[in-house]
Amino acid sequence: MAIELQAPKGTKDMLPQDAHKWNYVENTFKNVAKTYGIREMRTPIFEHTEVFSRGVGDTTDIVQKEMYTFKDKGDRSVTLKPEGTAAFVRAFIENRLFNEAQPTKLYYIIPAFRYENVQKGRLRQFHQCGVEVFGSKEPSIDAEVIAMAMETLKELGLKDLHLHINNLGCPNCRPKYNEALKKFLADNYDGLCDTCKSRFEKNPMRILDCKEKKCQEITKNAPIILDFMCEECDTHFNKVKEYLDILGLPYTVDPGIVRGLDYYTKTIFEILNSDFTVCGGGRYDKLIEELGGPEMQAVGFAMGIERLIMTLDKEGIEIPNENLVDLYIGDRGEDGKKYAFKLAHDLRDLGVNCEINHMGRSVKAAMKFANKLGVAFTTILGEDELQNEKITLKRMSDGETFEVSLKTIEEIKNIVKC
Ligand code: ATP
Ligand code: MG
Repeated sequence: MAIELQAPKGTKDMLPQDAHKWNYVENTFKNVAKTYGIREMRTPIFEHTEVFSRGVGDTTDIVQKEMYTFKDKGDRSVTLKPEGTAAFVRAFIENRLFNEAQPTKLYYIIPAFRYENVQKGRLRQFHQCGVEVFGSKEPSIDAEVIAMAMETLKELGLKDLHLHINNLGCPNCRPKYNEALKKFLADNYDGLCDTCKSRFEKNPMRILDCKEKKCQEITKNAPIILDFMCEECDTHFNKVKEYLDILGLPYTVDPGIVRGLDYYTKTIFEILNSDFTVCGGGRYDKLIEELGGPEMQAVGFAMGIERLIMTLDKEGIEIPNENLVDLYIGDRGEDGKKYAFKLAHDLRDLGVNCEINHMGRSVKAAMKFANKLGVAFTTILGEDELQNEKITLKRMSDGETFEVSLKTIEEIKNIVKC
């Protein structure tokens, strides 16, 4: 009996016809990162579970409901990365990067794993590009990180973008806010979902991020943290806004965003379009200490690559496809094929993307195939061409032909690459 194998729910294959889209997003992100002096770091795909339960926070949806956690054969609890930040902080501490001159500006491109309710733009294995900057508490770095995210999205060509910012306070002002929030929620306690009931004592702010309708209905009129900020947070927030104003970056102060991870302090932000949040991030001034490092502040963000690609498609943005074949070389006869084989090899050496006929196709079938591939130029190599040491390149876009000598393959390159 045939076995029907399918990819696990919430995962997707990256198909070859979409490879250029992935490369476009990743390369654009990397190029923008370079202009900000942000370097790449790679960490393992799994970590000790504690990195996330302590880092992301054990009352978050991610830790309570969504992690891919399992015991390895040595009976250690490990977890596939649900996000990039906590793992970067672990690596920053373990490799003592805090001893270097600060700030440390890093980026990653990773798969992330969350056991979520699968829907449009919500997968169980998805991909993120993210930035983390360690070592500075200056509001200018918050604004720079936000600007870098916006710049990446603009470089990609996206237009429908809305930057929302908020401030989550710090350990100085948050207890007062939590008290007010608890007072407000206490009156509605019975209407909360079970998870939120369990969060009520330990982390009432998490309730503001609940995706359950009944909880969202209750929290709609909850007090907002902006009304409880201490002077330090207030000043910091004002300066972040000032720096964004200097860059002319429009934003909306949105007290409704709280983010799904516990480590945030002060600035948080999201970049949304009409379908979903494509980017989320903020400052996390206590996480490095929480995971055993020195007292050091940090700020970062992550954007979802699948959501970016969906948005690029939706906005009809044309993505350069550098996988396209420059020249298809068809053949006539054994000698023609051999010459084509060597010619393709030499042209590839010069950076020309060539294909030859590995399927024994007739000239007619080969040209039909080349057309389907969408190649820029075609040519045929047979007895006549070998004798005259000349080939004819045909430009597929308009049918124009160019005769070139087989002795000057540089010239072939110049024509098919222009
Ligand atoms: P959301 O509110 O949409 O659940 P989040 O706050 O959980 O997002 P983060 O943890 O901040 O998201 O991750 C940053 C980005 O990663 C998101 O803005 C989104 O673009 C992407 N992302 C998060 N979860 C998923 C998912 N399950 N599938 C696809 N992309 C995701
Ligand atoms: Mg989420």
